[in-house]
Amino acid sequence: MADNERKVTSISELGEFGLIDRLTNKIKIRNASTLKGIGDDAAIIDAKEKKVVITTDLLTEGIHFNLMYVPLKHLGYKSVVVNLSDVAAMNAVPTQITVSIAVSSKFSVEALEQIYEGMNLACEKYGVDLVGGDTTSSMTGLVISVTAIGMAREEELVYRNGAQKNDLICVTGDLGGAYMGLNLLERENRVFKDNPNVQPQLEGYNYILERQLKPEARTDMKKIFEELKVKPTAMMDISDGLSSEVMHICSDSGVGAKIYEEKVPMDNETKDLAEEMHINPIVAALNGGEDYELLFTVPIADHDKIRNHPDITVIGHIVDASEGTNLVAMGGTEIELTAQGWNSLKDEK
Ligand code: ADP
Ligand code: MG
Repeated sequence: MADNERKVTSISELGEFGLIDRLTNKIKIRNASTLKGIGDDAAIIDAKEKKVVITTDLLTEGIHFNLMYVPLKHLGYKSVVVNLSDVAAMNAVPTQITVSIAVSSKFSVEALEQIYEGMNLACEKYGVDLVGGDTTSSMTGLVISVTAIGMAREEELVYRNGAQKNDLICVTGDLGGAYMGLNLLERENRVFKDNPNVQPQLEGYNYILERQLKPEARTDMKKIFEELKVKPTAMMDISDGLSSEVMHICSDSGVGAKIYEEKVPMDNETKDLAEEMHINPIVAALNGGEDYELLFTVPIADHDKIRNHPDITVIGHIVDASEGTNLVAMGGTEIELTAQGWNSLKDEK
């Protein structure tokens, strides 16, 4: 962070309006549904015949991110993506975001510009408009709140409560990578704190570092479901870990689940680092979180439609609520799932 901060402008030099202008003057509007973006008392959105989906995430320094090893641009990007992931989990298309920040005077204007650069990059990649926000000061750390707005036809929306007995349980992509990426960053940060002259050992782990620092939202799945002619019966994004998300779908749908350890997709880097750090990789997938893949259920009759899709893996099936929510381990033993997902309100994670 420090090495590329050549010019340092204090926030007080610009004042609130100057700062907002500096941060938002490059923003482009891409969606016809954005009638008014930044610049008035409120933005105006035209949803026409669509239903509007709204979701917010609040990120606080020291709880959700550590500025020791998270580059500001990545932080901006990720703070947008985590919200778009929630919109994707409703099977809606993200269209607008608002961004609110509380910032202490230790931040320079240039540092905030880096955050916005990351946010703009995410907006560009996902075709989303940044239409407003708020800026205020913070006595302590940095706080970023992003609200995302999305749209879908009513019949396209997918909730958490529609899973039925015998449905197949599926995930997109692979799991556990973001958690192992975090473990790597934390390990190297500890080494650096002990001896600042030691260079971090991050080679060979590009994929999991990217999973942690620059996650992507599965906004592509809506179109894939359309092409496959599949509508999930229930869906949510995997932000807290597979285990707690499966339990959410099951409790909301009034069903149970069996998922199979051998079927849970994991990348080789995830498995390699887990082995190196003496962590069972399935634990990274079950409890790690922040992978931002989608967990969904489909009727068993749709198996042929999804079975060969490279982005989709069937990891189990829905059972009667009386059978509980269980992981079938490699040897065949059933282990009850627990919601040890990443939870910032708990003391430990
Ligand atoms: P108000 O006094 O009505 O809160 P502001 O002066 O805070 O208005 O904001 C002026 C305009 O700039 C509004 O359109 C607002 O949505 C936008 N805005 C303010 N802060 C941010 C921010 N951090 N990011 C993006 N847009 C912002
Ligand atoms: Mg304001």
